[in-house]
Amino acid sequence: MQTKPKNDLCVYCGVRVAVTHDHVPPKSFFPQPLPSNLVTVPSCTECNLAFGKDEEYFFATLMFSEAGISTAGKKLWDQKIHRMYRKNLGLRLRVAKSFRRVNVVSSGGIFLRRGLGVKLDEERFGKVVAKVIRGLYYFEYSAPLLSSTEVLSQFLQSESDATEPIKFNDQLLFGSRQWPNVFEYRFNRIEDLPLCSMWLIRFWGKIVFWAITGNDSDFAKNEILPSHSKTPTAA
Ligand SMILES: [Zn+2]
Repeated sequence: MQTKPKNDLCVYCGVRVAVTHDHVPPKSFFPQPLPSNLVTVPSCTECNLAFGKDEEYFFATLMFSEAGISTAGKKLWDQKIHRMYRKNLGLRLRVAKSFRRVNVVSSGGIFLRRGLGVKLDEERFGKVVAKVIRGLYYFEYSAPLLSSTEVLSQFLQSESDATEPIKFNDQLLFGSRQWPNVFEYRFNRIEDLPLCSMWLIRFWGKIVFWAITGNDSDFAKNEILPSHSKTPTAA
């Protein structure tokens, strides 16, 4: 049992008093047995519950990508995803909407087979990533981001998309906690602009996001605005 945080404000909204602990990243993203060193941050009940549907969507959709055949992904399929889909019609419908039939063609334009493509709801992904970043920021720096601080994220579909992180590679520190092939992250902040930080986070060894925090003037000054985000697809 964890003790309740005393008089802390919620690290997500910065407005309401924290009455619970929220797991960063969500506990449901880890296969059983859960590691003993999961990170929690002070949260209000509203924020603790507010992102549940988005987190479920993030998790359930990305498990159809190569993350689903990672070691952690296979365990998660066995342990909970099959059951989640069976029980949750709303989730099935939301995920089904993400899929669209696409024709897979050879480079010569010859039709090869029907394949599944995924058009992801990037706004929902962005919300989940932003919450994780706010939690990790608090965990690393023992201070919350302001609720007015923006968190912008970009899904990196391949190594070649990683031009921004590579530019800052030698400045990124390793997160204080890592759960190899389940959740790993690197980060840093700009010295004289403490709310301006950058994050490279990886879920299940496969799904990589680059995220930055700050406000418009910080981004412009430091030229760390993420390039336009692409619509990722999964085979
Ligand atoms: Zn809150």
